[in-house]
Amino acid sequence: MKNRTLSIVIPAFNEEENIENTAGVVSAIMREAHIPYELVFVSDGSKDQTFAKVLALAENDSHIRGLEFSRNFGKEAAIFAGLSAIKGGCAVVMDCDLQHPPQTIVEMYKLWEEGYDIVEGVKNTRGKESVFHKMFAGTFYKLLSSLTGTEMENTSDFKLLDKSVIQVLLDMPERKTFFRAMSFWVGFKSCQVGYDVQERAFGTTKWSFFNLAKYAVSNIVSFSTKPLAMVGYMGGLSILIGLVVGIQTLVKWFSGKALEGFTTVILLLLFLGGGILLGLGILGTYIGAIYQEVKQRPRYIVRLDTDKMLKRDFE
Ligand code: UDP
Ligand code: MG
Repeated sequence: MKNRTLSIVIPAFNEEENIENTAGVVSAIMREAHIPYELVFVSDGSKDQTFAKVLALAENDSHIRGLEFSRNFGKEAAIFAGLSAIKGGCAVVMDCDLQHPPQTIVEMYKLWEEGYDIVEGVKNTRGKESVFHKMFAGTFYKLLSSLTGTEMENTSDFKLLDKSVIQVLLDMPERKTFFRAMSFWVGFKSCQVGYDVQERAFGTTKWSFFNLAKYAVSNIVSFSTKPLAMVGYMGGLSILIGLVVGIQTLVKWFSGKALEGFTTVILLLLFLGGGILLGLGILGTYIGAIYQEVKQRPRYIVRLDTDKMLKRDFE
């Protein structure tokens, strides 16, 4: 018989204010909709009481389970740890702050029962974000969509996946994962549901601008090699410009009008120097990414597991 249980994977980094509330709200919705479920909280090396709260809930409710990382490994790692721990026949990944409306999960689950392997949550609206964040996210998704050749705008990590898709994702060998794009790349029978981004229930965003920028670069590098090709295009362009300027210089020299053109020299130097450094930077970023992959380190390290602590291993 088909495993009808829905596993809900919830990455949580310093979310102590949200755990009880989120667990309560999501559980109530699942019970009301008569969906067999489990909640898998993955505490991403939280420095607060996040895991202690999960453990306390797990003691009284076998629907709730949790893992704690040995340090902060990032949301991507937390998602994959959750996915590899699920016991259900499908899983939804959602944020811990209820910005992903849990009612939408019911809709996703129904579509899964109808036979879809992947149900993507797509943002109708982006919710409240700072202008800066909006601009940055907008540029990032445009860039990403064109680099990966898929429509990525308004996508999020909020999605439901069938166990078979999850197995494919877990079997992918790369260490540096990009859940959103990988679950797109694998194909399968998919559909979309729209949702409105809610306000964060408690606490503040766990992303700093610097983290977000790092996340953007590492995701692009893990998913596309087009920036590398761009280095070549830039080289071609500067050769072309060099050719034009070269001809102009030679013409001037032959007509005895040389010695002008310091401006041109300065501009060319700046332009070429900048281009070369940018190219080296892009190459360096990719070599760095290759270096990280070659090391074959684990994606994350689990330090604590409620199942083991509560001896629920064989349930
Ligand atoms: N998160 C995580 N590890 C991190 C940063 C964030 O697991 O290093 C989790 C966080 O607890 C939340 C989700 O990822 O459940 C989304 O984070 P947040 O709400 O801070 O991001 P925003 O909604 O502001 O983009
Ligand atoms: Mg949030």
